[in-house]
Amino acid sequence: MSNDTYDVIVVGGSWAGLSAAMQLVRARRRVLVVDAGSPRNRFARSSHGFLGQDGRTPAAILDTARAQVLAYPTAELRRDEATRAAGGDGAFEVVLASGAAARARRLVLATGIVDELPDLPGLRERWGTSVLHCPYCHGYEVADGRLGVLAVGESSVHQALLLPDWSADVTLFTNGAFEPTAAQREALATRGVRIEPRLLAGLVGDAPTLTGLRLRGAGGGPDGGEVVALDALFTASRTRMASPLAEQLGCAFDDGPFGPVIRTDARKETTVPGVYAAGDAARAPHNATWASADGVTAGISAHQSLALP
Ligand SMILES: Cc1cc2nc3c(=O)[nH]c(=O)nc-3n(C[C@H](O)[C@H](O)[C@H](O)COP(=O)(O)OP(=O)(O)OC[C@H]3O[C@@H](n4cnc5c(N)ncnc54)[C@H](O)[C@@H]3O)c2cc1C
Repeated sequence: MSNDTYDVIVVGGSWAGLSAAMQLVRARRRVLVVDAGSPRNRFARSSHGFLGQDGRTPAAILDTARAQVLAYPTAELRRDEATRAAGGDGAFEVVLASGAAARARRLVLATGIVDELPDLPGLRERWGTSVLHCPYCHGYEVADGRLGVLAVGESSVHQALLLPDWSADVTLFTNGAFEPTAAQREALATRGVRIEPRLLAGLVGDAPTLTGLRLRGAGGGPDGGEVVALDALFTASRTRMASPLAEQLGCAFDDGPFGPVIRTDARKETTVPGVYAAGDAARAPHNATWASADGVTAGISAHQSLALP
C-alpha cells in the first residue's frame, strides 16, 4: 500500500465496489480497494440473475471480477477491514484494522449490509440454502415445491402474494407477527395462499435441508407440535450497515423498507461531498445487478468529479 494519496479508496470489494473500481482503473486513476471479504450472499450455493454469470457461485463470480480489476496497473487490493474514515474537501483518510492508513481524494463506500434474521430455532443454519429472502434470486430453484413464508410483519403479505408464480403450494405462517386484514385474506385466498396462524417452534430437517416447520405443542412449548411439511421457507430480514464508516464521515441516512440506507443523489454521491456510496448500503431493494450498476455510477461520478472543473 502506498504512502502517496490515491485518487479513490473504494471500501468494500464486492459487486458494488469492484464495479466502481473497474470504471476508475479503466480511467487510469489510482485506486485502492479495501475489502474484508464477506459479501452478503456468501451463504448461497449459487448466484442467480446476474447476466452472463447465472448459476455460478458468488465466490467464483467475484474471484473473476477481482482478477479482472487487478489486471489494470493502477488497481490495488488490500484484504483488511477499514475501521475509521475521516476528512473532507478532497482529502480523506482511511484507517485499517491492521493499523495501516491510506489517503485519497475521493471515497466510495460499498460496504454492504448485514442481515438480522428472525429468531426461530434452525433458521440461521439454513439461510441461503433452504431459507431464502428473494424469489427472483432463488425461487426458480425451489419451484413447484412446498413453500412457506415466515411473516415478519405486514410486508410479508407482498412476498406471499408473489410466490404462487413459483408454486401452487404456498403457506403464510403469521407466527404472531401481524393479523391479516380482511382485504389481505381475500388477496391471499385469490392467489391460493393458505394462512397458518399458529405459533412456530422451529425448523425441521437435516440442516441445511428443510423438511418442515414445527408448530408449538400443547401449552405453547417447543416440543410435540404438528409439523407442516415444507421444502423451502422465504422470509425478510431487517438489515443494518455492515460498517460504521458512513456514520463516521457524517453521511445522512434514510429509513429504507428493511433498515437504514445511506442517502445518495442520482450520481451516488452522499451528503458529504467527495464521498460516494453504492450497493445494498445505499439502495433498496437489493440485488447484485443493482449493486453493480450503482457501483458503475459511483465510479464514473467519482472520476468525473476529479476530471471536470
Ligand atoms: C442469501 C442471499 C442470497 C442472495 N442471492 C442473490 C442472487 O442470487 N442474485 C442476486 O442478484 N442477489 C442476491 N443476493 C443479494 C446480493 O447478495 C446483494 O445485493 C449484493 O451482495 C450487494 O452487493 P454489495 O457490493 O453492495 O455488498 P456485499 O456483496 O455485501 O459486499 C460488501 C463487501 O464490503 C466488505 N466490507 C464491509 N465493511 C467493510 C469494511 N469496513 N472494510 C473493508 N471491507 C468491508 C464486505 O466484507 C464485503 O466483501 C442475495 C443475498 C442473500 C442474503
